[in-house]
Amino acid sequence: MPNRRAFVAGLAFGLAAVATPFGAFAQEKLPVVASFSILGDFARQIGGDRVSVTTLVGPDGDAHVYSPTPADAKAMAAAKLVLVNGLHFEGWLPRLVKSSGTKATMAEATKGITPLETDDDHDDKGKGGHAHAHGHDDPHAWQSVANAKLYVANIRDALSAADPAGKASYEANATAYLAELDTLEGEVKAAIARIPAERRKAITTHDAFGYFVKAYGIAFVAPQGVSTEAEASARDVARIIRQVKAQKIPAVFLENVTNPRLVEQIARESGAKVGGRLYSDALSAESGPAGTYIRMMKHNISEIEKALAAGPA
Ligand SMILES: [Zn+2]
Repeated sequence: MPNRRAFVAGLAFGLAAVATPFGAFAQEKLPVVASFSILGDFARQIGGDRVSVTTLVGPDGDAHVYSPTPADAKAMAAAKLVLVNGLHFEGWLPRLVKSSGTKATMAEATKGITPLETDDDHDDKGKGGHAHAHGHDDPHAWQSVANAKLYVANIRDALSAADPAGKASYEANATAYLAELDTLEGEVKAAIARIPAERRKAITTHDAFGYFVKAYGIAFVAPQGVSTEAEASARDVARIIRQVKAQKIPAVFLENVTNPRLVEQIARESGAKVGGRLYSDALSAESGPAGTYIRMMKHNISEIEKALAAGPA
């Protein structure tokens, strides 16, 4: 009998001993919130299995104008780390931070990036109070792969600070991913080089490609400013149509986050062709053509090259 009792006790102890380390081994993932889909992808690439990422503005969503949901507030409250773009991209975020009561660390992915100032004359008085005397910062820094590498470094460091036990893993993931971005950067430059210099110009709906323009030497003109908040004026649209004709701009591009109407009107009235759809401020759904940052950039350069490389027959 004592033997049997000892055996049962030993068995129970054994189970407990097995259960505890097993529970600890299936570690809790670091809850991370990313403000929009591109940051969500970076966080997953670098965080890997150690993180659980919730993205607020999802695929094809417009982060310039977004209304947070109750589910967003819940995710914020549970987060240990919140990744944001910064440069006034997420004007709705401060209120969400406050209303959610989150204690999470906030990390700006654009830290250390030199912002482009825009010469927008769009009136943004009273919109978050970030108007500068001369233009304002362009938030779309991810459109240059060199900047994306800084995003990745910032996110790696933020994850390591929030979860020091995962530091080696975040560093290894980031190193591998940065090598992929190096390859991507080479592909972007090669694609642009294949477009005749005089045809490296196009129209997009909103001014989301300033960093792309600066990094890769191709001109994009947009009737709408760096935010989608302000509508393009009839005067802006008329000016662009004149510019397309005068400069023989070969193509206008649709964007996944904006209404196609404006660009279609410009194409109709200027005679430029409608190129493909560019992913400017958001990824596509996972199953779409731009489900990750790398696939997004590859898709965009392929559309740009297709529309601009060959002249009219
Ligand atoms: Zn934008």
